[in-house]
Amino acid sequence: MFDWIHRADQPLLVVEGPQIRIVAANAAACGLLEQQTLEEGAHLGDLVGLPDPLLLEEAWRAEPETLGAQFEVEVSRVEGGAHTLHCALRHLTDTHRLITLRNGPGRLPKDHLPALIDQLPVALEIYDLDFNSLFYNQVSDEMFLYEEKPIVHHDEWWDMGFPDPEERAAVLAEWRAKTEEARRDRSIIQFSEWSVRCCDETRRIVQFRYRFVGDYFLLTWWDVTAQRQAEEQLRQLSVSDPLTGVWNRRQLMQDIAADLERARRDGSSCSLLVIDVDHFKSVNDRFGHPVGDEVLRVVAQRSRAHLRGTDVLARIGGEEFAVLLAGTGASEAEAVAARLLRELCLPVITSSGLVVDLSVSIGLATSRSGECDVDGLMERTDRALYRAKAAGRGRVIIDGS
Ligand code: GH3
Ligand code: MG
Ligand code: MG
Repeated sequence: MFDWIHRADQPLLVVEGPQIRIVAANAAACGLLEQQTLEEGAHLGDLVGLPDPLLLEEAWRAEPETLGAQFEVEVSRVEGGAHTLHCALRHLTDTHRLITLRNGPGRLPKDHLPALIDQLPVALEIYDLDFNSLFYNQVSDEMFLYEEKPIVHHDEWWDMGFPDPEERAAVLAEWRAKTEEARRDRSIIQFSEWSVRCCDETRRIVQFRYRFVGDYFLLTWWDVTAQRQAEEQLRQLSVSDPLTGVWNRRQLMQDIAADLERARRDGSSCSLLVIDVDHFKSVNDRFGHPVGDEVLRVVAQRSRAHLRGTDVLARIGGEEFAVLLAGTGASEAEAVAARLLRELCLPVITSSGLVVDLSVSIGLATSRSGECDVDGLMERTDRALYRAKAAGRGRVIIDGS
C-alpha cells in the first residue's frame, strides 16, 4: 500500500496509530536511523525516543490538509554521541501518518546553556511580568550596570538612561504603549531605538527588541551607534560639496522648501542670495585649476565666517554659491548681501603666496507672502544675479528693484 515511499530519495516512514508503529520505511530512512532494515511493527519510540506525548498527540490529530506538527527527537549514534532528528508528520489516512526525517543540529549539552546565554554577543535581560529583574547577561552589565545603583526593577532604569526629563517622558510613553500591546498579544516582538546614557557616561544608540514569553518579559538589545554614525556620515556626504565642505544643491533645495513652508505658516519670509564669482574662468586660465579650487574654498570660508549659524550656505554650481537666510526679510537680507559682497571682493592670498583679485556678483530675492514655490524663488534670484552681471559685476541686485 505504501510501496511508493521506496521511490523517494527523502528519508520517509509510514507509521500507524498514535503508538507510532512503523508500517514502512524507505532506504534513506533506514540509513538515517542507522538500521539495515526496519522491522515492520517496530515502534518509532523504541528506536529514537519520542517527544512530549502531548505534542505527539496534537501532531497526530492535525487536520489532513495541514502540514502537521514538526518535532525533534534525539538519536544515539551506534559509534557513540547523539544527534537530533527533525520529524515532520503528514496525514496519509485516518490511521496512517507519513514522517519525513531530516538530520537536525548536533546536541547542545543543556548545562552549557546558562554560560552561553551569559556570554551572548547581544544583551539579554529577563524580567518577571511586573518587570522585576531576574537576569542580566554580561553585555547588559557592561553598559547598564550603573555605579549609582544596580537596577532591580525596570522602572529604575529610566532616570539613569535618560537624564533629560522631557526625553525620558517621550521614551516612557513609547515603552508603555508598546509593552501593553505586547502583553495583550504575546506573538508581538516590539522594537525601539533610543539614544541612551550608559554607565560609563557615554551616549550610545541602542536597538531594543522585547516580548512577553510565559511568565517572563524578555528584553534583548545591541549597540548600533557605529552603524548610525556611518549612515549619518554617508548622508552628510550625499548632501555636501566635496571641494568646499558646504551643502550641495540637493540639500539647499530641501532647505528652501522647508523654510518657505515655515514662513508661510508663521507669516514671516525668507531670503535667498546667489553669489557668482566674476570672471572666474580667467582665474583658472591665469593661475591654473588648483589655484582656482583654492579660491573657491576661500569664497566658502569667508562666506561662512560672515553668516549666522542658522543660515544655509551651499555650492550650487562650479563657481556659484547660494545662501538661504531663514526667517529673514528683504532689508535684513540686503544688509547681509552687502556685507558678503564687501568681504568677497577682497583679494585672496593663496597658500603659495599668489595674490588673486576676487570679485563676485550677487542676486537677492525675498519670498512673497504665502509663497511656496522653490523654483520661483530660485528663478527670481537668478534673474537678479543676471542683472548684476549685466550691470557690470561686483554688485548686489535685489529682485524687484
Ligand atoms: P562670469 O563673470 O560671467 O560669471 O564669468 P566666469 O568666467 O566666472 O563664468 P563662466 O561660466 O564662463 O566660467 C566659470 C568657470 O568656472 C569655468 C570653469 O572652468 C570654472 N569652474 C567650474 N567649476 C570649477 C571647479 O571646481 N574648480 C575650478 N578651479 N574651476 C571651476
Ligand atoms: Mg562666474
Ligand atoms: Mg557661473
